[in-house]
Amino acid sequence: MVEAVTTMNGECPVCGGMERKHLAERRDGHDVVLCLGCGAGYLRRMPSVDEIASYYDSAYFDGRRDDLGTYEGLVSHFMSERLRVRYSQHPSSYHLNWIGRHGIHLAGCDVLDIGTGAGALLVLLSQHGARPEGIDVSPVAARYAHDWAGCGVHAGALPHAGLEGKTFDLITAIDLIEHVSDPGSLLRHARTLLRPGGHLLLVTPNLNLGIRHGSRWYGFTSHFDHVVYYTPQALEELAARTGLAPRATSTVSVGTAIEREVTVDKPERSPADLTRRTTARSLPKRIMRALLRATPIARMAYLAKHFPLRRLPVEDEGMYHHNIVMLAQRVD
Ligand SMILES: [Zn+2]
Repeated sequence: MVEAVTTMNGECPVCGGMERKHLAERRDGHDVVLCLGCGAGYLRRMPSVDEIASYYDSAYFDGRRDDLGTYEGLVSHFMSERLRVRYSQHPSSYHLNWIGRHGIHLAGCDVLDIGTGAGALLVLLSQHGARPEGIDVSPVAARYAHDWAGCGVHAGALPHAGLEGKTFDLITAIDLIEHVSDPGSLLRHARTLLRPGGHLLLVTPNLNLGIRHGSRWYGFTSHFDHVVYYTPQALEELAARTGLAPRATSTVSVGTAIEREVTVDKPERSPADLTRRTTARSLPKRIMRALLRATPIARMAYLAKHFPLRRLPVEDEGMYHHNIVMLAQRVD
């Protein structure tokens, strides 16, 4: 078992409930439990805040954190982000289109992106006419994002002195909330940075796949920096508990280069349907095997060149795990 410091009494980080059951053993030895109150998953022994912070050194951003990444890996990650944006195949292009369909008009908006990473979303937001600002715990990523996007990017976590007195029309947190051991505090603080009626966009892996596949789920065999897991219902509960009204929630599938909508507003679609549908769209195995062996940049370049948006295969949800996207609004 992994040594970890318990920072809570074992209560659910989302709803505070104590009733839970074992869900899976993660490959790093952590046990994941399922809250019987709200359906969130979380580590039975939550790592300390310091331990969580130590995940995010520069090696983190190479996408192979579990293999102890390299400087080359970091550069590769930044390059692949640029390729995705250049070919209009960045997952966040999808996120911005999705919130547009739900009535968010980005032109002229002040937007804060929490956990901005390389800054791709900041670049895309600028292209949509928004005024973005970013924050990331990694100084390396924050500097890179600032140079690429040409906007303000703070190194650190919330609350941050550089954001004092500022408010935003929209706050985005893509693939962030699952890294946070006290998500209620984070969202309550984010809410104070929202203007009345302002919106929050959250994207996070969908725990329903972990419930279905147990310890075999990609989310449990890697991504050991995740500490809380969400179903759509648990994510909505978290928002509601922090003064944010959920306005729209969907699940989407992540491809290697593209994010493709699979179950938006179609709850009747079963996992079996999903598997059939995605297998039918998959690449020939020979090409898939070659791609999996290729470097991230080569893989990204191939897919970006040959597959237009929404045609990327989603062959194995373990590899291309599915995300929840949720839009919530500050209510006063
Ligand atoms: Zn709960």
